[in-house]
Amino acid sequence: MDLSAISDNIQALKKRTEAPFFMAVVKGNAYGHGLVEVARTAVKAGADWLGTAQLSEAIALRQAGITVPILSWLYLASQTSATIREALENDIDVSLGSVGQLEVLAGIAKRLGRPAVVHLELDSGLSRGGARKEDWAELVAQARQAELAGNLRVRGIWTHLAWADVPAHPGNITAVAEFEDAVREAHQAGLAPELRHVSSSANILDRPEFHFDMVRAGLAIYGLAPADHLDPADFGLRPALSVTAPLVMLKKVPAGTGVSYEHQAITYEPRYLGLIPLGYADGIPKGISGRSVVNIGGRTVPVIGKVCMDQFMVDLGPDASGIDVGDTAVLFGDPACGAASADDWGAAIGSHGDEIINRIAPRLPRAYATTAYRCPDYQEPAAAGPGNVA
Ligand SMILES: *Cc1c(COP(=O)(O)O)cnc(C)c1O
Repeated sequence: MDLSAISDNIQALKKRTEAPFFMAVVKGNAYGHGLVEVARTAVKAGADWLGTAQLSEAIALRQAGITVPILSWLYLASQTSATIREALENDIDVSLGSVGQLEVLAGIAKRLGRPAVVHLELDSGLSRGGARKEDWAELVAQARQAELAGNLRVRGIWTHLAWADVPAHPGNITAVAEFEDAVREAHQAGLAPELRHVSSSANILDRPEFHFDMVRAGLAIYGLAPADHLDPADFGLRPALSVTAPLVMLKKVPAGTGVSYEHQAITYEPRYLGLIPLGYADGIPKGISGRSVVNIGGRTVPVIGKVCMDQFMVDLGPDASGIDVGDTAVLFGDPACGAASADDWGAAIGSHGDEIINRIAPRLPRAYATTAYRCPDYQEPAAAGPGNVA
């Protein structure tokens, strides 16, 4: 983990917005990068807010001594929830998207003797959390009542766009118009929210008119593409995460050798195979077999045969000179150093880099640095030769 990339990415993103507040989204263990390490780096780099889906992650940030405002948006509303109580005690703002949630939050806040600070969520078309526009008037009226009773404070109003990754989609205009109506209705009901926020990474880069008072940046701070049409390098963003492993075995096999379970790959000539001690238990997708490459000893070599639970094989070609057991294989990382990117791996399995980085298993040790990781002995990959039978 190159924490300097996270820091540089945040600074690059902040230059692209006039919104006065910047939230770094650190849900999902900071997209697999390490919750507390990333949060501390983000705050130092100028993030005003942190965002998590789960209350438990927000509470963990407080336990680590982080004091900036935090918003959390996914929880089970129950009057007996110790987690909600702990979140409120820890000054964590929570999202509020239904009258049912409001009653629970106000009830817990009343017992605590302090108002719950909330951001009302509009469902502008994602059909995920939040209140639909036809339920909004009731929500804001009840929220105002709870404010007057001293059990609630509405600090923000927000929505998450269904079509953020497709800037030309008319759904964006409709959703933002609904959002502006919702803000107006909230004011008419007597609420005075300070923070309106709508945009995640894609719209930070391509829709400045959607930035309002705060933007919520996830993928882009990790240096991955938030949408297919947005290349992180074009915006000065670079991946923070590189996944590497040592080559643990190297062997020569004759022509006609089947590789891995069910011999889905068979060598057509004598080849060298390398063994990498990572598998699907580590979050390596089975689907990358034959579809992705790793960088080792300055060469770009394909993953061959089925990925096993703890290990997979790479095809080092007919000549493995210069490659040794113990050499570092770079699975993915910063394309600038010759590695595939997590986005390349995502594309190889019909998905995106977000799924790749998020599935890296907790058992993989994380190492933190403040300089960019550089592939060992990086050289331009040679032109593709004939492949093995797959
Ligand atoms: C995940 C998430 C974000 C960040 O999205 P990115 O596309 O990763 O920038 C922002 N807001 C909410 C509500 C989210 O769930």
